[in-house]
Amino acid sequence: MTSDMPQTLAHQDPALTPAAALATVPATASGTASGTASDTARAAVATAIPAGRSAATQPLCSVVGAQLPVPLVTGGTLPYANLDYAASAPALSAVAEHLATALPYYASVHRGAGYASQVSTALLENSRSCVARFVGARADDVVVFTRNTTDALNLLACAVPEDGGVLHLDVEHHANLLPWQRRGHTVLAAAPTIRDTLTALDVALAATPIALVAVTGASNVTGELLPVEQIARIAHQHGARIAVDAAQLAPHRRISLIESDLDYIAFSGHKLYAPYGSGALVGRRDWLDAAPAYLAGGGAVREVTTTDTVWAPAPARHEAGTPNVLGAAALAKACVTLAALGDATLESHESALRESLLSGLARRPEINLLRIWDDSADAIGVVAFTVAGYDAGLVAAYLSAEHAIGVRDGRFCAHPLLARLGPDGAVRASFGVGSALEDVHRLLSALDRLLDHGPAWVYERVDGRFAPIDDPRPFPDFADDAVGPASPCEASAF
Ligand code: PLP
Repeated sequence: MTSDMPQTLAHQDPALTPAAALATVPATASGTASGTASDTARAAVATAIPAGRSAATQPLCSVVGAQLPVPLVTGGTLPYANLDYAASAPALSAVAEHLATALPYYASVHRGAGYASQVSTALLENSRSCVARFVGARADDVVVFTRNTTDALNLLACAVPEDGGVLHLDVEHHANLLPWQRRGHTVLAAAPTIRDTLTALDVALAATPIALVAVTGASNVTGELLPVEQIARIAHQHGARIAVDAAQLAPHRRISLIESDLDYIAFSGHKLYAPYGSGALVGRRDWLDAAPAYLAGGGAVREVTTTDTVWAPAPARHEAGTPNVLGAAALAKACVTLAALGDATLESHESALRESLLSGLARRPEINLLRIWDDSADAIGVVAFTVAGYDAGLVAAYLSAEHAIGVRDGRFCAHPLLARLGPDGAVRASFGVGSALEDVHRLLSALDRLLDHGPAWVYERVDGRFAPIDDPRPFPDFADDAVGPASPCEASAF
């Protein structure tokens, strides 16, 4: 096989949000006053709460930007209902506060002699230890700070021994597909059940020597969880290692490399409430020490002549250039904060929101849920669906423009999975520790309104994306001031 021929409550933090800029958005001639819009939404929420459910579920953590006032095309504002955590989650307030404390000490790391440099170096290296603890790393595992999950998996792709094959499922995010397309790889089509998928994995690994099985821990489309411990066991029985793409899993479930016997894990800060440009690859040292430096440059070396280089071992080997100290510190603080919440708390909050959303969506026959496996027993706070008669992009634009609800639409960087599931695009609602039951109820009521009355505004496709015609909503000044007008968005490539 060749590489190009695969085989088959939030507490509002006014100091940190642009709330003031948006709070004064005036009602338009065609719209309603702010209070009226809010009242309408509240009344609609009340009718949408499924019987027997309490509205008591509150956010677990304070996040920056909670209650952000968002302008509506119809006039007035509503607090932002952020149901797009799976794409990028808001910063935890604890993370933002941590960075505000650290920022005055920010200075060059590792080789700076000054006091602030020493503090910054300690911050970076302690952050590395926090991340290691968060994922239950073994004592001799390496934590490499990366930009994000994509970066981490590309790094790992350069570290898998050259003669070793890689196997992945066809349900993966592109970040866990494309790096493997550059080298020998085997694609295993997921079976209709997880049980049969594991059996097929066992058979595939018996048939072909594979060095690494790369799987997602949780689908970024449906939220369904894969049993990574079982996959690890099967992989190891066949002499393969396992890497878990935990971009979606890590923010929702505690992971332990030791307890689950995982070899590598990759995840992103911006999905883990730490949107400061850092991610991590954590795992076994030998491949990382033997691999060519991911980037060639300062910090990754022990000795350099004009003709030769002695490279440092990992993690320095793969962290050439000035490190993102504050990004690493943010990621570490998010890890510590989430770990302190405890798995049970995270899970029960999330399953209350998920159950409420699923039971609300099930009331409408026009709504079709996406699901990969018939027997998946558990899922994180990610739900994808289609709405009969409406393009997913139109639904997302409507939710944003008329209800201040943020969701994602499209193919979610999982084109092979969407091709297998059927629709050429879907709507995805996702939530996390800053979400409340009210966010879910607002989504349900907005969908009811769409299905019962249609949109109140007219929408058109602009560069492949739906947008309200003559959109009257202003952006806050800070978004335009520093950089001038935004360039047109790319067509719906995602
Ligand atoms: N893997 C999964 C499952 C994802 O959901 C994503 C992003 O949505 C990625 C990988 C890529 O993450 P990033 O864009 O932070 O590199």
